[in-house]
Amino acid sequence: MKAFCQEHGVPHETCGKLVVAVSADELPRLKELMDRGTANGLAGLEWMDAAQMREIEPHVAGIAAVRVPEEGIAGYPAVCRQLQRLINAEGGEVRTATAVRQIEHDGAGWRVNGEPFDYLINCAGLHSDRVLAMAGERRTTRIVPFRGEYFLMSPEGARLVKHLIYPVPDPKFPFLGVHFTRMIAGGVECGPNAVLATRREGYHRSDFSLADVVDVFSFPGFWRFFAKYPAMAAYEVRRSLDRTEFCRSLQRLVPEVRLEHLTPGHAGVRAQAMAEDGTLVQDFDIVQRANALHVVNAPSPGATASLAIADHLLDRIAAGV
Ligand SMILES: Cc1cc2nc3c(=O)[nH]c(=O)nc-3n(C[C@H](O)[C@H](O)[C@H](O)COP(=O)(O)OP(=O)(O)OC[C@H]3O[C@@H](n4cnc5c(N)ncnc54)[C@H](O)[C@@H]3O)c2cc1C
Repeated sequence: MKAFCQEHGVPHETCGKLVVAVSADELPRLKELMDRGTANGLAGLEWMDAAQMREIEPHVAGIAAVRVPEEGIAGYPAVCRQLQRLINAEGGEVRTATAVRQIEHDGAGWRVNGEPFDYLINCAGLHSDRVLAMAGERRTTRIVPFRGEYFLMSPEGARLVKHLIYPVPDPKFPFLGVHFTRMIAGGVECGPNAVLATRREGYHRSDFSLADVVDVFSFPGFWRFFAKYPAMAAYEVRRSLDRTEFCRSLQRLVPEVRLEHLTPGHAGVRAQAMAEDGTLVQDFDIVQRANALHVVNAPSPGATASLAIADHLLDRIAAGV
């Protein structure tokens, strides 16, 4: 992605990331992350004690951190616009606002909304399971949409953050905790929480779709998930409604953050595939069939890794089923 941004003049910045452990029980997991990163070829990973960490990020709490110097940010709308330009230049066509509503087998190929195509690649995010079903497959997982709300930091608050600041993931919880992200146009945003959205594109609390709600509540996996994490679900709803609670979760990483530093920002909706036993699918889930490939689950960092994922999909298509 960095090479792509450099080649095509897309705004990006290698600002580095700190993954911060705030308690002793997080240290083994932080060490494991560092080992895994090194094994995967990340360059320059650095273990930092509290003093070293505060030399480069003076307002962060915590007892140790791993610095990831290669981490960065990119202007993603600009990435998409450039991809569209490249597709058009090769004679391709990007149709937005064109919903796939019907898929039928047509000899060796497909008819999509009645139009013939040789090969079907489904990357429909929040609707990937429904597009899979349209192509005649059984949905073994279900997309359960979780809204993640962010806050923007005032210039005074943003001065407390120099890198991307992330917590150590906790396997006891299904979602990564809140983090601080520097934005390509300047400023810092922080979040997200994770609340069940009552519509697949439920970017606002008031968004509602009966079909989407029925889809979630009729799925046994959802109830198994809910039974496993009732306290977390209640906490997430509280944190969505109560900004003080949200601020408190941010103070775990940067204690000087104050309520007055925060204004509500945008929200995203995770297209989270859930299995029938109630576990969240944490990895990429790709279903390959003759002349069809379905990306059913593409969790973060699916955007950063999108070009590498595309290469992987092309390799699989070339290799055949
Ligand atoms: C809050 C949040 C924060 C994230 N932060 C990061 C991050 O910092 N870094 C990172 O790398 N990743 C991040 N991600 C993850 C990243 O957004 C996803 O991994 C990535 O977008 C997945 O790409 P995709 O192409 O599979 O699906 P999407 O990006 O969801 O795209 C799916 C597309 O399919 C279209 N579509 C759906 N149904 C139909 C239909 N029936 N007909 C036609 N079109 C349809 C949709 O309109 C959409 O344009 C974040 C995700 C969320 C929710």
